[in-house]
Amino acid sequence: MGRTIAIAGGGIVGRTLAVALASQSHLTVHLIAGPAPGRDERSSAIAASARRMLARTGVWPAVAADAEPMRGMVITDSADGDLVRPEVLTFEGDTDGHPFAHMVPNETLYRSLVARCAALGIRETSAVATFYEEDERSVTVELSDGTMVTADVLVAADGRNSKMRQITGIEVVRKDYHQSGVTGTVSHELDHGGIATQHFLPAGPFAMLPLTGRRSSIVWSERPAFAASLAEMDPLLAALEIERVFGLSLGRITLEGPLQAYPLVAQMARDLVAGRVVLAGDAAHVIHPLAGQGLNLGLRDAAVLAEELIDAARIGADPMEGLPRYSKRRRADTVQMALVTDGLNAIFSRKSDLLRAARSVALGVVEERNKLKSLFMREAAGLEGELPRLMRGEAI
Ligand SMILES: Cc1cc2nc3c(=O)[nH]c(=O)nc-3n(C[C@H](O)[C@H](O)[C@H](O)COP(=O)(O)OP(=O)(O)OC[C@H]3O[C@@H](n4cnc5c(N)ncnc54)[C@H](O)[C@@H]3O)c2cc1C
Repeated sequence: MGRTIAIAGGGIVGRTLAVALASQSHLTVHLIAGPAPGRDERSSAIAASARRMLARTGVWPAVAADAEPMRGMVITDSADGDLVRPEVLTFEGDTDGHPFAHMVPNETLYRSLVARCAALGIRETSAVATFYEEDERSVTVELSDGTMVTADVLVAADGRNSKMRQITGIEVVRKDYHQSGVTGTVSHELDHGGIATQHFLPAGPFAMLPLTGRRSSIVWSERPAFAASLAEMDPLLAALEIERVFGLSLGRITLEGPLQAYPLVAQMARDLVAGRVVLAGDAAHVIHPLAGQGLNLGLRDAAVLAEELIDAARIGADPMEGLPRYSKRRRADTVQMALVTDGLNAIFSRKSDLLRAARSVALGVVEERNKLKSLFMREAAGLEGELPRLMRGEAI
């Protein structure tokens, strides 16, 4: 019997899952995409494991020309007014012969996924899911255009304010960082050499992440009022503000487009599954962007969920039987990453000189031990732990 998976949410995670299911199985995929997103100035560090999945599912060729390999990272720890930002940790080199991540503009990734969904003939609507009901055989989703979709499983990939999650009754644990992430693209006079820089500053981290050419993406965590004023600021003045915190190591800086400010929160759903409904991506977890891992967690959700749904359907079972295993495999990983990013933000966003000295000692220990560093690189590449098949570059 043909089985159907409905996905609410046509963001990067929902579409990656749709493409994984449609390219690896005979499951029917119904994508309730919602409206196309507005302008997104963000770029994402796509970990090596996620790149393997995008390659395996036929998305990467359309992304590759806009993807900049990340060859290393420099982390500094200093106060706002310091003239020199001392390097406390540096990483360089590849993992398993490949860059540990590639920087990709979100808009490129999104466009490539839309094209791949169309090429795979995935059924898609721009309506939003407004309600669902389930019985012992199926789940029926009501759409804003008055139509209905019936499926074996409904995946809620509808973002941090997930309507579908609210209807399940699954609660979230939420923490407001009282910071906003200011993001945008800048160009600079000098080559970045594929090196990402993260300055830990008292108000929050500032990251300069390499894009193709002499361009970089910034992610600047700041107090909300200042972040909002940056997003409104004249581009010349905003560039001067960026030079003030980043310095001139890449020469003079020019804004390539507008800056956007996102309120930063950590949010964890208490469960990932309720009956025939399963959460993925930001609907399940939102973390601080300082480690560039939020989307990567969502992509790993997509890889594991595709594997469990397909494996269940292949043995003739109801795909929902794969959901408990998905929940078990994803829970620890997401909670761990949320705790690590939360802890790093807390430890680095304090002004205390004593804490700064302690940070220096701790990071100095890592800096001097190549084994620890290579473990960090493998974590950043998403190559640690039990990898789903697509993230090993294998078919499901
Ligand atoms: C400043 C900043 C920088 C970041 N940098 C990185 C990074 O470098 N690396 C990284 O891995 N992550 C990063 N992240 C995190 C990453 O951007 C998110 O985790 C990711 O975009 C989440 O994708 P998603 O598809 O789960 O959700 P979303 O992008 O929110 O997509 C949800 C989709 O669902 C649709 N929708 C909503 N409601 C409904 C409904 N009822 N029915 C149907 N559709 C609906 C919406 O229109 C939207 O298209 C960053 C985040 C921020 C804020």
